[in-house]
Amino acid sequence: MDQLFLYLAIIFLFVASWFAWRYHDLKQRVDEYAHLVRISPEKLPTDLKQIENLSNAIASLKTTFNLQLSTLNDENARLATVLEQLTDGVIIADANGLIQFANPAAQNLFETSNALGHSVTEVIRNHQLVDAWQRCQQTREVQSESVELPARRQFLQLIAIPDTHASGSLLLVQDLTRVRRLETVRRDFISNVSHELRTPLASLKALTETLQNGALADPDAGPRFLGRINTEIDALTQMAQELLDLSRIESGQVELILAPLAPKSLITSAADRMKMQAERAGLKLLVKCEDDLQNIRADKSRLEQVLVNLIHNAVKFTKPGGEIILVAESREAVGGAPYGGGIRFAVRDSGAGIPAESLSRIFERFYRVDRSRTGSGTGLGLSISKHIIEAHGGRIWAESDEGRGSVFYFVIPVL
Ligand code: ADP
Repeated sequence: MDQLFLYLAIIFLFVASWFAWRYHDLKQRVDEYAHLVRISPEKLPTDLKQIENLSNAIASLKTTFNLQLSTLNDENARLATVLEQLTDGVIIADANGLIQFANPAAQNLFETSNALGHSVTEVIRNHQLVDAWQRCQQTREVQSESVELPARRQFLQLIAIPDTHASGSLLLVQDLTRVRRLETVRRDFISNVSHELRTPLASLKALTETLQNGALADPDAGPRFLGRINTEIDALTQMAQELLDLSRIESGQVELILAPLAPKSLITSAADRMKMQAERAGLKLLVKCEDDLQNIRADKSRLEQVLVNLIHNAVKFTKPGGEIILVAESREAVGGAPYGGGIRFAVRDSGAGIPAESLSRIFERFYRVDRSRTGSGTGLGLSISKHIIEAHGGRIWAESDEGRGSVFYFVIPVL
């Protein structure tokens, strides 16, 4: 019996030490494996004896994790590109108002090179915008504010959105300068058109009332008033036509029919059309152009419209006895000019000239130097001409010596 116990004890001891050894060995392997997972998870062995199941499970977990990580990285990169390319500014500020993120557009709009870590107040530097951000922080509601920054000639809109995850805020900044400018141009345009229509309409009304009140029967005044009505109607018709032209050109509806064109043929045909008008005004109209100038690529009727327009102005603003000279020359002959190569056309007159401060404005819609002096003009002709020249890839400008005359130049690229 004792002997049996002894055998059983020996067997038990043997089995226990075998399990202890197994346990120790397994623990050592698992510890080694855990160490490897910690220090170099990218080089995990997959053929470890006795813990194959564990190592396989971790290997598949690693693959899934890597896949998710790379998807996340791709999404992050995409988001970073979007924020980088966005023309609107994006700023993320924490609860203390310190900037955690600012995209390049935001840094440009607020003229700073490193907004990170600085406070919103320091970067935005405008009390109305800062107020909007503070209101958003206090109320935890979206706030928006628009301001004009006269020093920078900018119009900015800020939308402050409370950050629901942290207690900070997200600031979106939009540059509305261009939109505002277009709105102003549109408003000015409408008020100009109404103003320009009111004057001839008021005089038409006055003339018809005078006729109704008896002038119609007057053999002298009757035809005179009818003649003036006719002139006013012509002016209105011209304005309607020019407005239509301008709107078509500006909206790109006018397609240029480009073809090789000899500068001399263009300039002489415009001169022929205006000769009679110049003679009637007691002016000499001269053409100076070499025969062998290079051809330009242009829409003949449109460029002729520009030349006629410029000659028409020259006739209008030059007293009898003066002269108008049309010149076409290659750019090389001009020398040192700050524009690209081409043929430079010039319409030179010896008329009233244009004051220096008006020179840069005469190409604006409805701009007239002296409304009382110009009589029947609409102020649209030069604006139309500018569009036509620019549609040809050219440039138009004017130089003038007030009281002595003006020169209108335009350059069209050669073929
Ligand atoms: P308008 O129909 O009034 O002539 P434009 O756009 O052709 O309109 O010209 C704008 C203004 O530029 C004119 O009203 C005039 O004040 C000025 N201007 C244009 N051409 C000349 C010129 N050759 N001499 C003097 N002033 C000119």
